[in-house]
Amino acid sequence: PRPLDVLNSTLDGTKQERERIPVGEAVVHWFKRDLRTHDNRALSMASAKAKSKGVPLVCMFIVSPQDYQAHFTSAPRVDFELRTLEVLKQDLAEKEIPLYVTTIEDRKAVPGHILQKCEEWGAKHIYCNIEYEVDELRRETKLVKSCMDKGISFTAVHDDVVVSPETLMTGAGKQYSVYSPWFRAWIKYVHEHPHVLDASEPPAANPGGTKESFNVIFGTPIPPAPENKKLTDEERTRFAHLWPAGEHEAHQRLTRFLNEKVGMYKETRNFPAEQSTGMLSVHLSAGTLAARTAVRSARDVNSTKKLDGGNIGIAGWISELAWRDFYKHVLAHWPYICMFKPFKYEYTNIEWEYDEGKFAAWCEGRTGFPIVDAAMRQLNHMGYMHNRCRMIVASFLAKDLLIDWRMGEKYFMEHLIDGDFASNNGGWGFSASTGVDPQPYFRIFNPLLQSEKFDERGAYIRKWVPELGGVEGKAIHDPYGRGAVKVAEKAGYPRPVVDHKVSRERTLAKYKEGLGRS
Ligand code: FAD
Repeated sequence: PRPLDVLNSTLDGTKQERERIPVGEAVVHWFKRDLRTHDNRALSMASAKAKSKGVPLVCMFIVSPQDYQAHFTSAPRVDFELRTLEVLKQDLAEKEIPLYVTTIEDRKAVPGHILQKCEEWGAKHIYCNIEYEVDELRRETKLVKSCMDKGISFTAVHDDVVVSPETLMTGAGKQYSVYSPWFRAWIKYVHEHPHVLDASEPPAANPGGTKESFNVIFGTPIPPAPENKKLTDEERTRFAHLWPAGEHEAHQRLTRFLNEKVGMYKETRNFPAEQSTGMLSVHLSAGTLAARTAVRSARDVNSTKKLDGGNIGIAGWISELAWRDFYKHVLAHWPYICMFKPFKYEYTNIEWEYDEGKFAAWCEGRTGFPIVDAAMRQLNHMGYMHNRCRMIVASFLAKDLLIDWRMGEKYFMEHLIDGDFASNNGGWGFSASTGVDPQPYFRIFNPLLQSEKFDERGAYIRKWVPELGGVEGKAIHDPYGRGAVKVAEKAGYPRPVVDHKVSRERTLAKYKEGLGRS
């Protein structure tokens, strides 16, 4: 059976078996990318189980350096998770719930370690939320089997998405691969099943007098980041300042955004200098905020009390959150996209170039295209980039430099604080035209026009490429082509690495050739 089916069966198929298993001396919740106490489905179920049996709830989180390596997780992201664990540990401690955090070097040893701990704690029930990446699905499937052998019940819950994968199917019973009809089905489903947006109860306080081994956990510090994911002191201070961790911060950001900005979201979301978007992606991807909470809160401030209609800013924001669900549905249904393959197999044979010099210029923000350079410098400094700019730089890498989009996808994961496999892979596939519901391959962004349209006055460019501060007027978009040669040269700003018109023609030819070979 498919891993997803095995995990689905832990919710329904094995329910009765689970009921027969005695509760033991504790119930375990295994935290992964759901680092919050509010509106957390599996945590809530684990707590209810523990409460009904009068035993304590024990929480755990495993730091897995090999998983970080496998997912190219960025050092700022690891740091964000560890800072979040500090907050979580404190919040849980207020309810007498211990949070056990340890580092397990060998990722294959993670399931065994969980079972060993359950044995030590006398726990017979494990709860967790499902992650949809293929390695994670397989790991959990293994754990289901090992748990059954040991008489332990294992419950994996859909929580990361608003609507569970494979709930929405086309008329022909197939998975959607086009966003618009999928989105219509998503809206309809949520309106017909409003309970999917209901919040889960936060965990109840543990009964007093817990075992000595649990008391030890309360006093254990959160482990440091793995050696190859450590930030320098300067970086640590910067990221802590830019991205305060934990679910309280997430809720405050959400409230501020809904009070102050969502109304104008539709008009302003594409302009990177405006700072008009939610900036909640890091919280959604680390699970300090549930997508469900975000959608529910937006719905509740909409005049229609629905996901659509009413305020166009709110409806627009919800439709962006839906993209997140869409890409996770795609990932859960077509796990091969985790294996460095394009979603559209007919784009497998494009002959990419692997020009190290051009790739380095792109990574470091010195391509000579100001909007591209500003965006890459924002990424390198903040671990974040505005969505419009993500599309511009992705298109530029694949279609101007003709560099394999997977190199860009990896670079993003290595630097984004909000790195999320499904959204990142989806975004890259869209821009490189190799993914699900992509931009047609012959639509190639002109970086200059994008710059003029979305950063008309050059405010974003001037912020991130300060050496161009002295360039006036429209020349900011293309200093060498628009008569600001002397200023740009004096500032040491590089000349463009390619001629857009020439590279556009070359790319069209290469895509056609590649398609011809498929
Ligand atoms: P808002 O505009 O406030 O949107 C609200 C939320 O909706 C976001 O936080 C995000 O969870 C979701 N969302 C918005 N747009 C998209 C989208 N296009 N696809 C999927 N979800 C979306 N998003 C990530 O969270 N992690 C990534 O690794 C990631 N990589 C990307 C790579 C490329 C090449 C592209 C084009 C997009 C990528 N995105 C990624 C999507 C999007 O750029 C970010 O989610 C968004 O910029 C985050 O800023 P925000 O929270 O202010 O978004």
